[in-house]
Order: sequence, then structure tokens, then C-alpha cells
Amino acid sequence: MNPILRFAPSPTGRLHIGNVRTATLNWLFARKCAGSFILRLDDTDLERSTQEFAQGIRDDLMWLGLTWDREERQSDRTQFYDAAADSLKARGILYPCYETEDELARKRSRQRALGKPPIYDRAALQLDADERRRLETEGRAPHWRFRLPNTASGQGLTPQPTIVSWNDLIRGDQIVDVGSLSDPVLIRADGTYLYTFTSVVDDIAFAVTHVIRGEDHVTNTGVQLAIFEALGGEAPAFGHHSLLIDAEGNALSKRLGALSVQSFREAGLEPMAVLSHAALVGSSDAIEPIRTREELAAKLDLSKISTAPGRFDIEELKGLNAKLLHKLPYEDVADRLAVMGVGGGAAFWEVVRGNVGVLSDTQAWWQVVAGNIAPVIEDAEFLSTAAALLPEEPFSHDTWGAWTNAVKAATGVKGRGLFHPLRLALTGTDQGPELKGLLPLIGRDKALVRLRGGTG
Ligand code: GLU
Repeated sequence: MNPILRFAPSPTGRLHIGNVRTATLNWLFARKCAGSFILRLDDTDLERSTQEFAQGIRDDLMWLGLTWDREERQSDRTQFYDAAADSLKARGILYPCYETEDELARKRSRQRALGKPPIYDRAALQLDADERRRLETEGRAPHWRFRLPNTASGQGLTPQPTIVSWNDLIRGDQIVDVGSLSDPVLIRADGTYLYTFTSVVDDIAFAVTHVIRGEDHVTNTGVQLAIFEALGGEAPAFGHHSLLIDAEGNALSKRLGALSVQSFREAGLEPMAVLSHAALVGSSDAIEPIRTREELAAKLDLSKISTAPGRFDIEELKGLNAKLLHKLPYEDVADRLAVMGVGGGAAFWEVVRGNVGVLSDTQAWWQVVAGNIAPVIEDAEFLSTAAALLPEEPFSHDTWGAWTNAVKAATGVKGRGLFHPLRLALTGTDQGPELKGLLPLIGRDKALVRLRGGTG
């Protein structure tokens, strides 16, 4: 059976490096196993979800090349949640509660004062129909809790350990004691559903086979497995990856805006650098720039993902981006270079690619090769001697060596004293691609103008 995976962001913000990692691992898993990949917008929080964020997420995924086979929005699916909720209500597994936030907070502090864990006491299970009616006439709308399978009777509460277990795709054998948890609220008093529930209904409806998500969901998984069971659905396999920390070891959550896909895109980073980082960070494989999504999918091995936090450092991502560009063949960048107005074909690209951090850095080198620059003249006399010795065209990669040997023989200058002034005059800057590659691209006419101090 081909696997079915999904990425389920809430459209309450743009994608950032943390959820890109989740999206990437699910997408690669689906592609590696010839499965399918669903984009599910978890937009049950109507106040915070927007169309703009949903579109932003689609744009970010498209830019990354994480295409989806099917898209679903939870806000379109209320009828399915209603039907599933009705079936649980009919069996008393989903039960109405009337406590206000304040009352619940008071209960919790009382429990703490008695040295008890602050678990919901299931008092609402004791209400009879008359009492419920009275509370509703008082204007209280019920919220609905899912009755976790954690006591035999459910009368009052003496929680018994009730272990839900699964073999996690990343963390191995996992257990959650749902006896130590409050019955989760699945429907708010305003009638809206919580993700905990809608996600399970959808995972069943779409026959999702594997869910890879952050380890902040481990406890949720214990609860959701109980909901799968209550709904008679088959649960997917779960894998929980560790979360990312920054270079100083802190959680990333505070600065996520700066770590958005949008900001990577604006900084000119390559989608494949972002994907390579997202797929390999926190795994036992070194983080290497991988050229294609197919190669990255072939490399995916969830058993190599560590349970220790992955470290995200923007400088590392930038370094990875440069390393990726340094090895990309011309065909991978030709279209985008053309859009940037950079010419010179493969010959130019192969000379400069080792000196760019982002693709747009090629523009400055294209200016050096084909445009006008102001040369930096350190020693006019030396440069004039060099100009007189510049060979006739055609130039090749050997011209630079032959020329500088001749200049050395004529002036007695060697090493840095020889090369540095020539580079400054020919390129206007003191570092860059090898001159044996640049010189033939600059050509004899421009080189002569620059060696003589002219702008050309
Ligand atoms: N909407 C949930 C989140 O963004 C999805 C979690 C899941 O993958 O089940 O946290």
C-alpha cells in the first residue's frame, strides 16, 4: 500500500524553519515511497486563521518545491466533525461540561493544595438531565470533553495508570499514561472544534498512513490514539522529531519571523539549501547540500534522526547555500541568471560559482566581466609594463600564466606583489575568482583600458 502523508499547518502565520522541517520530512517520506502528500490547512481557529496566511503557506511550499497531491481545509469539513462528534456523544464518550475558566482554575488550585495532580475531576459526568437543563437556562453553553479510557467507572476520579503505547518511527517505543491527563476539550463552548479532534477525523477520512511531527505532540498522540480507537479508525504510524534550538541553545520560538521561508527567499537563499538543512539537521548524517529533491528523498532515513534537538544557525544555512552553488551545474541556474541579466553562459558560471554566497552575487562579477568598473591603481608604472606585455588574443586559461611569467621576468616582481596589483586593476577589488578564468572573459581591450587606469 502506498503511504499517504500530510502536512497540516495552521494558517495563523507563515512557514518558518521549524515547520519547514516537518513539511520536508513528510514530503520526502511520501516521495521516497511513491506515496502521496496532502496539504491540510488546520484552520479551525477562525479568529487567527486568514486567507493571506493560507496563500503565503502555499507560496512558501511552492517555492521550496514541496508540491502536494491534494489540498483540504478543515473549515470546509464541519459536517464530518459534527457526524463524528455525534457518534461519540451518543455513546457518552464526549460529554458536556459547564465549568467556567474561573471555576476550573479554582478546582486546580484546590487539588494542588491537597497535593493532588490538577486533573479535571469529571464532575460534569455526575450531572443529570435536569441539572444540565438548569445550567443551560442560566445561559451556560457546554464545552465537550472526551472521556479518556482511564478509569473503569468514570465516577469521580481516582485515576488509574492507563498506558497508550506505540512504536514511534523516530523515537522507538513510546508510552503515554492517559490516566495522568485531564479529559481533553474537543468542542469549545462556542461550538468550534479543537485540532486534537479534527485532526483524527481527517486522518481517518484521508486514510493517512504516517504522521511525522514535532515532539511537542507526543502527549497529543497518546490522546489522539484513544480518539482513533473511539472512532473505530485505523491510526497512522507516528514519528516525532526533536525540536530546533538556535546557535546558543535556546528554543527558536521567539525569533521565528526572522527564520521564515519568506525571509530566506528574500535573502536569496536556494530552496535546495533550505531543504537540505531541514532534512538533515538533527540527524546522524552530516548536513550537506543536496542538489535535487529526489536525491534528498533517497537519503531520507528516519532512524538516523536523533532525539536530541537540532541546531539551527542562519550562518550555517548561508554556508550551506554557498557550498550548494559552488557545485551546481550551469543548467540548474541558467534561467535565473538570465532573469538577473547575467550572461556569459556556462563559461562565466564555472569561473565565478566558487565565489558566490547567493546567486545574485554573480551580478557583480558579470559587471566586472562585461560592464564598466573603476580599476584600483596601486603602481601605474608597473601596470603600464604589464599592459605592454599582455598577449594578443585569443585568450585561454593559459594566458594568465604566460602573461604573469613575462611580467615577472621583466620586473623581477613575484608572488603577491605581482598578482595583487593586477587583480586590483583588472577587477577593482582584492579578492574573487581565479584570474586565469576571469581574464579571458574580460578580454584584451577591457584589460588594457583598466591596466592604464581607465574606466572600462
Ligand atoms: N496543525 C497542527 C500543528 O501545526 C498539526 C500537527 C499535526 O501534524 O498533527 O501543530
